[in-house]
Amino acid sequence: MNKKIYDIAVIGGGPAGIFAAYYARMRKLNVALIESLPKLGGQPETLYAQKEIYDVAALPKISGAELATSLIDQLHLLGCDEYLDTSVNNLKLDDGIWHISTNKEPIDAKSIIIAIGNGAFKPRKLTFDYDPLIEENNLSYFVNSIEEFRDKDVAIAGGGDSAVDWAIHLTNVANSTSLIHRRNKYRAMESSVSDLNKSDVEQLNPYIIKDVNFNQDDHEKIDVTLKMIKSDEIKTITIDKLLVNYGFVSDTKILHDWNLDLEGPFIKVDREMETNLPNVFAIGDIITYPGKLQLIATAFAEGPIAVTKALRNMYPERDYFEHSTSLFKQ
Ligand SMILES: Cc1cc2nc3c(=O)[nH]c(=O)nc-3n(C[C@H](O)[C@H](O)[C@H](O)COP(=O)(O)OP(=O)(O)OC[C@H]3O[C@@H](n4cnc5c(N)ncnc54)[C@H](O)[C@@H]3O)c2cc1C
Repeated sequence: MNKKIYDIAVIGGGPAGIFAAYYARMRKLNVALIESLPKLGGQPETLYAQKEIYDVAALPKISGAELATSLIDQLHLLGCDEYLDTSVNNLKLDDGIWHISTNKEPIDAKSIIIAIGNGAFKPRKLTFDYDPLIEENNLSYFVNSIEEFRDKDVAIAGGGDSAVDWAIHLTNVANSTSLIHRRNKYRAMESSVSDLNKSDVEQLNPYIIKDVNFNQDDHEKIDVTLKMIKSDEIKTITIDKLLVNYGFVSDTKILHDWNLDLEGPFIKVDREMETNLPNVFAIGDIITYPGKLQLIATAFAEGPIAVTKALRNMYPERDYFEHSTSLFKQ
């Protein structure tokens, strides 16, 4: 059986990649969408699902999770082959076809759109060993649903925007909320810190987390051992949930093996989103060009530009552009 060759393989299922995949399907191309995480949605879904976004055109206000769901719903109107939990490792051109090696099956395509954002991001985890079972119910690095925290005793660790915002937010649903930070000063926006100071959040600083264990008497709860900075004082709090917001490490180093022209961690593209490699395009947060803004609105616009140029390269006879999408309707 001949292996399927896609017109376009989109690498990265964040806002840029999902919308580019949808637009490519609208232009009647065969599309594979490859995402390293088990679900599509990128940063809005993974990093700030409950945060509101105010600068997506025609949507006065939408949360990260709602935006991701709407994008996925839109993509599913036309559908494409989705490869989830699939990380791209390398790209190799052979006889005009790109062979994309992944942690699973290889994927072949005539063109590639790289939309990997800040790379395959991973949360910065606690640096000491703890019982891995604690991560099942008590310790998380992402907020999937606020409901998980309802009526619970919760502690958030971190001092940046995300930690401070979640502390303020979760205090509305949790039974009790504490914020653990190693300094007396936060790295969050002044207005957020002011809201924090007016809230019921108990501020535990300057403390660092030294240990996390299941509570001896109640296995549903955990004991979090805190050490005061520059002091021998040790304090233990018993809680239901610990949310660690130490930020994320993203890994774009992989790009160095892909023979792309880079500027720092970013892929250089021209005004048609083309990279230095033939039929390889890049869009979204991973790219740079004069005036580039790392915004969802910008990422949305870059997809159609890349798809249109890819289509022109692959099928010059279909080199037309219609501005009214009702003409493309399925
Ligand atoms: C806290 C926060 C708040 C924000 N608020 C706003 C806002 O209000 N308005 C706004 O416009 N923007 C906002 N942004 C920025 C916005 O989220 C990004 O501009 C947008 O997500 C970029 O989309 P993207 O698809 O390029 O990248 P991403 O959303 O990062 O998606 C990239 C995807 O590629 C996947 N991937 C990475 N490497 C690989 C690989 N090797 N193989 C397969 N898949 C891979 C990743 O897992 C990820 O799902 C915010 C960002 C943050 C962190």
